[in-house]
Amino acid sequence: MYSCIIGGEKVISSSGSTFRDVNPADTDEVLAEFPMLTRDDVARAIDFAREAQLRWASTPAPERGRILLRAAQVVENEAEELARTLTREEGKTLSESRAEVSRVISIFRFYGVMGYRLKGDVAPSAESNTHLFTIREPLGVVSIITPWNFPIAIPSWKMAPALICGNAVIFKPASYTPLIGYRLAEALHKAGLPPGVLNFVTGGGSSIGTEMITNPQISAISFTGSLEVGEEIRRAAAAGRGARVQLELGGKNPAVVLDDADLDKAVEMVVRGAFGLTGQACTATSRAIIHEKVYEEFVRKLVERARRIRVGNGLEEGVEMGPVVGEKEMDKILSYIETGKSEGAKLIYGGRRLKEGALSKGYFIEPTIFTEVTPDMRIAQEEIFGPVLGLMRASSFDDALDLANKTEYGLSASVFTKSLQRAFDFARMIEAGVVKVNKPTTGLEPHVPFGGFKKSSYGMIKEQGEAALDFYTRIKTVYLSY
Ligand code: NAP
Repeated sequence: MYSCIIGGEKVISSSGSTFRDVNPADTDEVLAEFPMLTRDDVARAIDFAREAQLRWASTPAPERGRILLRAAQVVENEAEELARTLTREEGKTLSESRAEVSRVISIFRFYGVMGYRLKGDVAPSAESNTHLFTIREPLGVVSIITPWNFPIAIPSWKMAPALICGNAVIFKPASYTPLIGYRLAEALHKAGLPPGVLNFVTGGGSSIGTEMITNPQISAISFTGSLEVGEEIRRAAAAGRGARVQLELGGKNPAVVLDDADLDKAVEMVVRGAFGLTGQACTATSRAIIHEKVYEEFVRKLVERARRIRVGNGLEEGVEMGPVVGEKEMDKILSYIETGKSEGAKLIYGGRRLKEGALSKGYFIEPTIFTEVTPDMRIAQEEIFGPVLGLMRASSFDDALDLANKTEYGLSASVFTKSLQRAFDFARMIEAGVVKVNKPTTGLEPHVPFGGFKKSSYGMIKEQGEAALDFYTRIKTVYLSY
């Protein structure tokens, strides 16, 4: 039985309730049991955080940075074990897990160094003998609520900037992936983070999550997850005291393949974007829009490549696609596949749950490809969050761009072309917060801003890179006359 970490102490729920953490590739394996905290337990955690934050804020920023740099070292020392835990808990392949853990190390290094760079501005004053400058201040206690699909990277890219800026954190992982979140909290404590600065709480989103949003001591909420829950949080936060809110939500990301594209490369990148991480990435490619001149050849090569994807337990050598995270998510994806068929799309590859042999113990779905998808279909508009790709045919660059933009989401998008002109036109005109040229819609570097347009994000301030510092600080302007 694992615990939560509140005020530096290991605690269980005051109700005694717990929940189980199961391997989605083999549901016989129970990895851990975690406390189902109550709202009162979390309210107490917030009190601890409030107290600890005042001391943390007065710790010099370079010293805060040294702790983050040590955390990067702890994660690096434990990287292989963390990657294996991540695969067993979330299901992604071991190489995907290793990449995620390595990103965590970069994130902590990047923000650790930021301890020396939390700068304000100096401006010339219109009055003589006046020094006019700005300083950044922490906000206080921030709530960090994260999904299961990048269960160590997302908490890191929220917590590291929050902590370097002098905030205390209440961190709730998704209930599918508490163990890797616990390991991350443990790494920060091993690195010397003072008690109470980071409080790791587990339990139901709608109970303890609500406390994390409505408690008056919370100054900011950073949430990544579904559009539905995000909208609920936005309403609840607005009805409260008006804490600062940042929501990173879903996507319906297009890959546009133009007639001058390197088709082999485009196929490989579309496969990586659509079926890598089992399609469970907010930036996953869920629509491929292909110029009619290369459509037939692209589809033929795509299906050939999809056929070679080995689906299985992510710990096994050679497996390219792991299970989906849970039964509810698997049923939702299979039901979208039925929807696609009934609304007239043509299923040309996959579409089934895989149950042969050892696969029967997990939540495995074939990579799935539909053709004849049109923009009015639900499978072209709603986030499926699984290994399902819909193909559309475009008659020109303008037509492809128009199809790509026909969605309420705007997270990431790719174009495949050899033309600089078309690449730049696409980058300028696509409605997405991240644009890739000849690269998959997935995959981000941690030191540049990340966030979507339209319904994919809410809040003015991006995550990651230096942009994140703006979310976790407020600016004070000082007029000093001498
Ligand atoms: P989710 O169901 O919205 O849950 C996300 C987190 O919110 C979990 O920790 C969940 O806790 C918690 N939660 C649930 N209901 C809540 C409530 N009423 N109040 C407060 N918290 C609540 O999303 P998910 O299924 O974990 O993740 C998949 C979604 O995340 C997809 O839509 C994907 O696109 C999105 N995502 C977006 C990005 C991005 O950066 N844009 C990145 C990754 C994922 P429980 O687990 O305990 O329910």
